Amino acid sequence: MSDLTSGLVVRLPDADATRSFGRALAGVLRAGDLVVLTGDLGAGKTTLTQGIGAGLHVRGQVASPTFIIAREHPPLPREDGSRGPALVHVDAYRLGSLDEVDALDLDSSLDEAVTVVEWGEGWVEALTSDRLEVTLQRPRGDHDPSGHDPSEHDALDAAAGERTVTVRAVGDRWAGVVLPDPDLDPDLD
Ligand code: ADP
Ligand code: MG
Repeated sequence: MSDLTSGLVVRLPDADATRSFGRALAGVLRAGDLVVLTGDLGAGKTTLTQGIGAGLHVRGQVASPTFIIAREHPPLPREDGSRGPALVHVDAYRLGSLDEVDALDLDSSLDEAVTVVEWGEGWVEALTSDRLEVTLQRPRGDHDPSGHDPSEHDALDAAAGERTVTVRAVGDRWAGVVLPDPDLDPDLD
């Protein structure tokens, strides 16, 4: 269990680990929450959002949008018939202006859904005071955290594939909220 307000760093060895982490994160998310995903192109932001979508049990495939900037995934009924919040997935990579931000009408999604924003840092903070800041990083080439000899090409490739995720919670909403260890329920779907 990890307290989100004190910050959390987790190693993600492969894309499945990124998805599992997203599923674990979904367990603490509720309607009105905002998750801001930061990381380079290809860092794993959409992959993590796929895990969140699976954990929330929403309709539709979470994907990298080509032209659509925001997509709403409505909740499907769970086994007990209940439904969780919808997921609104925003990829602001192509967002050109703050007028386009207004057109997204994220205020209403921030009341009713879980809103996950890729490339949101710098503008999305103005919309709400409480948020989860999630940062995905690839290990830097100049210091290999796996400790392998860089001359071992296989080891280097493996290290280049993994990611690190850092979660920092901002705002009163997250006081005392803990994240269950994603390894505890790998079959959660
Ligand atoms: P982004 O949305 O940040 O641009 P994507 O989620 O599209 O990135 O992921 C880019 C690629 O990285 C995908 O092929 C995905 O499978 C892979 N990937 C995601 N997480 C990891 C990980 N922890 N280790 C290795 N590869 C990963
Ligand atoms: Mg993406």
